[in-house]
Amino acid sequence: MKPPPFRYHTPRFLPEALDLLRESPGDARVLAGGQSLVPLLNLRLAYPDVLVDLNQVEGLSYIRDDGDRLRIGAMTRQREAEFSELLGERCPLLIEALAQVGHPAIRNRGTIGGSLAHADPVAELPCVMTALDAELVATGPDGERVIAAGEFFLAPYETALSPGEILVEVRVPSTPAVPAASFVEFSRRHGDFALAEAAAVLEGDGTLTGARVVAAGPAWTPSRLEPVERLMAASGVGRTDSAAQRDLVEETGRAAEAAVAGLAVHADATAYQQRLAAVLVKRAVLQALERWSRN
Ligand SMILES: Cc1cc2nc3c(=O)[nH]c(=O)nc-3n(C[C@H](O)[C@H](O)[C@H](O)COP(=O)(O)OP(=O)(O)OC[C@H]3O[C@@H](n4cnc5c(N)ncnc54)[C@H](O)[C@@H]3O)c2cc1C
Repeated sequence: MKPPPFRYHTPRFLPEALDLLRESPGDARVLAGGQSLVPLLNLRLAYPDVLVDLNQVEGLSYIRDDGDRLRIGAMTRQREAEFSELLGERCPLLIEALAQVGHPAIRNRGTIGGSLAHADPVAELPCVMTALDAELVATGPDGERVIAAGEFFLAPYETALSPGEILVEVRVPSTPAVPAASFVEFSRRHGDFALAEAAAVLEGDGTLTGARVVAAGPAWTPSRLEPVERLMAASGVGRTDSAAQRDLVEETGRAAEAAVAGLAVHADATAYQQRLAAVLVKRAVLQALERWSRN
């Protein structure tokens, strides 16, 4: 299959890319790793008039330590992030999720920002960024703004980015802000898009004081499971109290089933997918608690 015709630009600088988006008549899109957009073009599911290729734009690919936050440039390749020592030490949840994004060949080209902007409902990065309470930085005609991950994903393939805006950076918390976390998914074959996935991020030092728990798969977007989070925050379990932790995991499993059933599900979601998401939430919580105990 061949893509429909489009005009193609390769700017070197971000302001130039923003100007091209603003001045382009019709539908203008940016091209990052092309791992989602190019198949959409070739299948004639997307008909942009203009493509603004970000691959030559300077200064969009980096991983930096900013104290309590790590800053990741939007054009950072998923594979580069996966092998980043800094992320491995300070945000291992992200590495855990990245290793499950498609196959290495896809991660070689696919970018962190591209996956987030594409907003597939079962993509790994939107799920973990929501659990990490990441900040997404967008630049556009009206300047720069920071969008919380929880407010970024509006619907399948739809984000809070306005026309003409480019996602330029993602900021994730650095350890010890996250004492322990876990990401789990289930897919039919390794490398396939997941049927469902879950992430759990714990808060607290010797005692559990809070948690962010996210399920993805059955709903339109990755969803925080607030009843599960409240249950965990109120539990007050200790880091070494394994009996209380076991009880909490069982309670979490029950609460997750009810919470997932209450999500606004998309038309194709099955009871199986909902049940699967609840099981994965329980597994993610169990694994996060085990990691917390070992820390
Ligand atoms: C066979 C196959 C299997 C895959 N399996 C998985 C999987 O299991 N899990 C998973 O999560 N993904 C999977 N993917 C998708 C892959 O992760 C893509 O890399 C990702 O979805 C898009 O990133 P990209 O950099 O390639 O973006 P592109 O394809 O270039 O762009 C995707 C969309 O995002 C927009 N965009 C890109 N960057 C920006 C930006 N900085 N600012 C604003 N808009 C932007 C583009 O305009 C486009 O609309 C798979 C892809 C393939 C081909």
